[in-house]
Amino acid sequence: MMDLQHRWNDVSQRIEAACVRAGRSVSDVHMVAVTKYLEAVQMQKWLQFGWTHVGENRVESLVDKWDTFSHQATWHFIGSLQRRKVKEVIGKIDYLHSLDRFSLAEEIDKRLDTIVSPLKCFIQVNISGEKSKHGISPQELEDFLGDVANFFSIQVIGLMTMAPLHASERDTRGVFRELRMLRDRLLTQGQLSMGMSQDFEWAIEEGATWIRLGSILMTEEQD
Ligand SMILES: *Cc1c(COP(=O)(O)O)cnc(C)c1O
Repeated sequence: MMDLQHRWNDVSQRIEAACVRAGRSVSDVHMVAVTKYLEAVQMQKWLQFGWTHVGENRVESLVDKWDTFSHQATWHFIGSLQRRKVKEVIGKIDYLHSLDRFSLAEEIDKRLDTIVSPLKCFIQVNISGEKSKHGISPQELEDFLGDVANFFSIQVIGLMTMAPLHASERDTRGVFRELRMLRDRLLTQGQLSMGMSQDFEWAIEEGATWIRLGSILMTEEQD
């Protein structure tokens, strides 16, 4: 059974190799360590790896872990965020990967306006068009960018997407490539949050600047 160190060595080699294939610098690809599978008490071991960027997709888990480890990490919220829960995460998270509707932007603006630094947000785009997926449609993205530009509390730093589960390499790359093309067209300099355990190498080759990895680092770690 591979321990966390071995798994991380393996993953970081794969990240490096993907960067080499794509002619990119490793320093351009950042990782969010997705800790959603862990209890707060298990997190210390993870943080010792120097993974300063951690991601959670549920408000309760984020708050729980933040209470213990707030100063040891930079917090990313990567899941769908309900409007009424915004107040619970504001002031705790540094990055939101899932800005996907105007009402959410409004609520963030309402809650954050007394705080000096804006929230760094990725706009989640539903490239694959799956009904089950959140996100702005590619067609609506340009207008949405215009709408949220009016909120001083929100700093749009890039775009985020999720490829369909178990999609082929070709389809998965197609989704990532389309996100990159939207970025090139509408958000020059924008970052790209795309790629998870199943597809991070393709994502890197297609231009991801943030990958979000959970299970590949910690399966077998549950015991
Ligand atoms: C869980 C999750 C991840 C990480 O997924 P793994 O397949 O475990 O790497 C990435 N992004 C989001 C939005 C998630 O919910």
